[in-house]
Amino acid sequence: MNISFSPPHIDDVIIDEVVAALRSGWITTGPRTKAFEQKLAEYCGIQHVVCVNSASAGLELVLRWFGIGPGDEVIVPAYTYTASAEVVIHCGAKVVMVDVNDDMLIDVEKVRHAITPHTKAIIPVDIVGLPCDYQELFDLVNDTEIRKLFAPNNDKQKKMGRILLLADAAHSLGAYYRGKHTGAVADISVFSFHAVKNLTTAEGGAICINLPESFDSENIKNSMNTFSLHGQSKDAFTKTKAGAWRYDVCSIGYKCNMTDVAAAMGLAELKRYDKLILPRRKAIFDAYNQAFKNNPLFIVPTYETADKISSYHVFTLRVNNITEEQRDAIILDMAEQGVAANVHFIPLPMLTAYKSLGYRIEDYPNAYHQYACEISLPVYFDLSDEQVNEVIRALKAAVAKVCL
Ligand SMILES: *Cc1c(COP(=O)(O)O)cnc(C)c1O
Repeated sequence: MNISFSPPHIDDVIIDEVVAALRSGWITTGPRTKAFEQKLAEYCGIQHVVCVNSASAGLELVLRWFGIGPGDEVIVPAYTYTASAEVVIHCGAKVVMVDVNDDMLIDVEKVRHAITPHTKAIIPVDIVGLPCDYQELFDLVNDTEIRKLFAPNNDKQKKMGRILLLADAAHSLGAYYRGKHTGAVADISVFSFHAVKNLTTAEGGAICINLPESFDSENIKNSMNTFSLHGQSKDAFTKTKAGAWRYDVCSIGYKCNMTDVAAAMGLAELKRYDKLILPRRKAIFDAYNQAFKNNPLFIVPTYETADKISSYHVFTLRVNNITEEQRDAIILDMAEQGVAANVHFIPLPMLTAYKSLGYRIEDYPNAYHQYACEISLPVYFDLSDEQVNEVIRALKAAVAKVCL
C-alpha cells in the first residue's frame, strides 16, 4: 500500500465548477471571486474579505497597507514556514523571531520581551490549525506600558494606537477561538488556499479584515482589492461593460488578484467544508490520537482546548527523547514501507537564508526541541480508515526498529 502525504481533494463537484467558470466567458477576477469573498466573510462572521493569489501576497499587502518599512520591527515565531517572515523582509523591515511553547504556538511572554519602540506588528501563526493565544496577545498589545512604547509614523498606525495583530492563519480556516472562527479574531488574518492546505484553489489566499470600529473597513477592503490589481480604479470585469472603458491608476499597485477559475474551486469546497471536509479530518486526528495518546513513547498534538478547536491541518506527532537523526531514520523507514511522512517545520533559523541573516537556532531552543522529534502524519479527505491504520502500523514498526 502506497500512502502519499497530502494530495488535493479533486472530484467532479470541483471539476464541474471549474468547467462552468471556464465556459462562462470570464476567467480572471470577476463574479466568482466576489462571491467567494462574500461566502468567506459569512463563514468567518465578518464583513470584509479580500481574495488574492496567495497568503504570502496577502500578508505583504497588509504590511504595506499598514505602512511597515525600513526601521520597523515585526515579531514572528521561529517555528513556521518562511512565508510568515519573508514578507516582512520584502517590506524592508526587520524580523524579530521568538520561540514557541510546547503546543508549537508563539510564546506570548517571549513576545513581550521582544517588543521595542520599533515594533509595528506581530504575526502569530496558527500552526497546523490550532489558534494562537489571542486573548493574551490582545492583552499584551493593549497593555498601557506597551502602548506607550508604540511610535506611530502614519495615520493608520496613529488610529490603531498600538501594535497590529496580523494572524498568519494559512492553516486555520474553520478553527475556532473562544467561539469565533479564525478570521474574526486577530485584527487581520490571512488564509492560504495553496494545494496542500485544507481548502485549496491550487494557489490562493484571503485577507480577513476585523479591525477596530474606528477603521472604515469597507473602504480598506476596496483599496486592498485595488492595490492587488495594479492600483487600477476599475477591475477588468467592470471595464468590459459597454461604455465603461475609462479607468485611472490611483496608486502604484501590485498584481496578486485571485482568478475566477481559482475562486470556482474555493466556492465548491467551502460549501461542503464544515459538513464533509472538517469532520473527515477530525476523524483521522481522533484515530491517530487514540493510537498514540496513552503510549509514553509519543507526544500527541493539542487540537482541542477549552478555548480552541483546531482545523485539523497537520497531525504533528512527536516521539519522546529521540534525536533528529533517529527522527529522520523513522521517516526513511516509513517511506520504505510506502508511507509518506513529513516534518512541520524546519525552524527558520536552521535555513540557509535566515542563518546568513544572523539568526541562530541556539536562541530558540524549544523550536529546535519540537522540530527534532516531530513527525507529521498524513491527513486528508481521501485517506481511508484502512490507510490510517496502515500509517499507524508503519510508524510503530519504524519506531520499534530505530529506537528500541
Ligand atoms: C503555506 C503557508 C503560508 C503561505 O501560503 P501561500 O498561499 O503559499 O503563500 C504562510 N504561512 C504558513 C505557516 C504556511 O504554511
